[in-house]
Amino acid sequence: MTVKDNLHKIQKEINAACQRSGRNSDDVKIIAVTKYVTVERTQEALDAGINHIGENRSEGLIKKAQSVENEPILHFIGSLQSKKVKNIVEHISYLHSLDRLSLAEEIQKRWQSSDPLKCFVQVNVSGEESKSGLNPGETIPFIQELTQFSAIQVVGLMTMAPFVENSEETRPVFKKLRILQQEVQALSLKNAPCTELSMGMSNDYIVAVEEGATFIRIGSSLVG
Ligand SMILES: *Cc1c(COP(=O)(O)O)cnc(C)c1O
Repeated sequence: MTVKDNLHKIQKEINAACQRSGRNSDDVKIIAVTKYVTVERTQEALDAGINHIGENRSEGLIKKAQSVENEPILHFIGSLQSKKVKNIVEHISYLHSLDRLSLAEEIQKRWQSSDPLKCFVQVNVSGEESKSGLNPGETIPFIQELTQFSAIQVVGLMTMAPFVENSEETRPVFKKLRILQQEVQALSLKNAPCTELSMGMSNDYIVAVEEGATFIRIGSSLVG
């Protein structure tokens, strides 16, 4: 399948999900997760109208950043070792995996731009051992600590739902993240507008959109 065909199908699903939940489909941005695919396939996604590219390894991110045209908005979506921060800061617009103060400190040290880096705090809503991210209960104290870092802006929360056969089972996870996001937003913290929700992947993005996702991260069903 071409990326264009896949995108058309996904956009239709998003539109329908927005209709069902009374949302505006312009508020849902698609991040094409290109971690498994070539530069050529990534370029095909950009030519099909995608502006947001996501990678979970610094090597992959740098390669795509240096090779594609159209200057996409680059998102780092995987767990990030502090020592890799210096390699990727010049390329990224968003970080989806902020989960510890030591990482915030490193970003503070390396970030060059006068505007802060747009970050999602990653939350392990489902509590699975294998997933990274903060427990829901740790999230607000963590974000309060982050206000000391002028290089960081908490634009929202991110989660990965468990992989399940029936995507409907992920709904409580997405709902819980949205409630937490609204709690943080209501605090009106400096550097933490927290208006965005990064949730939903190939398997579960329709449910995520119904529950308020503003960024969905799609790999296999878009570019795979
Ligand atoms: C790989 C990955 C995705 C995309 O996964 P698909 O199931 O291929 O859509 C989304 N988010 C993160 C954090 C990932 O690592």
